[in-house]
Amino acid sequence: MMTDTPASPRSPIGIFGGTFDPIHQGHLACARYVLEHCALAQLQFMPCHVPPHRASPGVSAQQRATMIELAIADESAMVLQPLELNRSSPSYTADSLALLKQSMPNSTLAFVIGMDSLCYFTRWYQWQRILELSHLIVCQRPGYSRQEGDAPTLLRQYAATPAALHQHTHGKIIELNNPDFSPSATAIRSALAQNRKNISELALPVLNYIQQHRLYQS
Ligand code: ATP
Repeated sequence: MMTDTPASPRSPIGIFGGTFDPIHQGHLACARYVLEHCALAQLQFMPCHVPPHRASPGVSAQQRATMIELAIADESAMVLQPLELNRSSPSYTADSLALLKQSMPNSTLAFVIGMDSLCYFTRWYQWQRILELSHLIVCQRPGYSRQEGDAPTLLRQYAATPAALHQHTHGKIIELNNPDFSPSATAIRSALAQNRKNISELALPVLNYIQQHRLYQS
């Protein structure tokens, strides 16, 4: 186990992992809230590799990445992290964070998830290693509570305030008190499949791109 050495004065870097199929206003609202409340230097969107048999038909990894780039074009502190897309098979978060840590050895990393993910976090591959490589920042998500699944035990053991991100290199769970951001990619894909035109849960450039390329249509 790594020891808990004091963090460098450099601000932590947030890593927001997910499928982003497609990126929606819920993701963007979380990202902005995290940047504002955790004083991060940067937030990197890290879309995961999805095996072809599980991918949305007709939507490539490159197109998911392009939609992220379109959505964050005006957000100076947000960037695309293509690490997992550039690999030929799915990667575990623990392995990706290890690679990122290798490339940024002096940076504190904070992996961003929604409360739905914290509720099942101990089912993640090498979840303890994730906490040895980074902190976790948890956004509230409608329909999931801190009382469910793994959340109470994990929060009892690892909970800290955002200040801890600047005092420790890894191993803390920061639960944010963000308002509800309702969008879900599943609901958005279903609305698009029904040919709905005005989907306010998508950033306009993303909606335009989806319509131009006829993505998610049945
Ligand atoms: P799907 O509906 O396909 O499962 P999703 O909307 O959950 O997709 P993902 O790409 O799987 O989107 O989400 C990536 C991360 O963002 C996850 O940790 C998830 O918990 C979080 N997240 C997604 N939407 C929200 C939201 N509305 N509020 C808070 N967290 C969210």
